[in-house]
Amino acid sequence: MKPLIGITSERLQQSSKKINLVKYAYIQAVVEAGGIPIIIPVLEDRENLKRYIDIIDGIIFSGGEDISPINFNEEPIKEVTEIDRDRDANELELFEQAYDKEIPIFGICRGVQLINVALGGTLYQDIYREVENVIGHTCRYNVQEGYHTIEIDKGSILYEIYEKDKLLVNSLHHQGLKKLGKNLKTTSRTIDGMIESIETTEDRVLFGVQFHPELMAIKYKEFLKLFEYLVEEAKKHN
Ligand code: MN
Repeated sequence: MKPLIGITSERLQQSSKKINLVKYAYIQAVVEAGGIPIIIPVLEDRENLKRYIDIIDGIIFSGGEDISPINFNEEPIKEVTEIDRDRDANELELFEQAYDKEIPIFGICRGVQLINVALGGTLYQDIYREVENVIGHTCRYNVQEGYHTIEIDKGSILYEIYEKDKLLVNSLHHQGLKKLGKNLKTTSRTIDGMIESIETTEDRVLFGVQFHPELMAIKYKEFLKLFEYLVEEAKKHN
């Protein structure tokens, strides 16, 4: 049976309309990897989120706006302007419940940051302001193309999947992982030392990447492998 993969979503206000959306590339990647996507909306009342956890076999924390620094006990600097406190609260709740049930978890961009914050880690609110000699990490011109190189640690999920120590990936972030949360380890970096992926040191499936494999996968099918990994692990869970 194909596993159900929850995908977290974002809210946008467009003139008088409020919409709740997931970029289609996430859906396409889950489908192509052999899973069935379920979009989890941002709910103002979080009481019923648990029902999603009851039915899903895996979960993707998707990309989007900044995580409010209030979640890691800092006040925002001026570069942090796009936040959704309801989304933060929803995702922190979903993470806690998925973690408790040992549901396979995959975080992408904002999602990897969410995992880190949920486990007590912190973020650079704006890497260009807070990190010296940082390279470019925000290329919106062609989001499906590689932009910077990441260096992958042996013994990591990424290395197991790609069997190489360097990979060219896209990059669409201005925040970054700073102090790592509980039982997380870095598995790849850019040459400036920025963390580009993490995974848990525990015996469970919990990993995340700072780049956007769902967008790379449109042109470069090898990026589907991360989704296939999640789907295979989710099958074992259901
Ligand atoms: Mn990057």
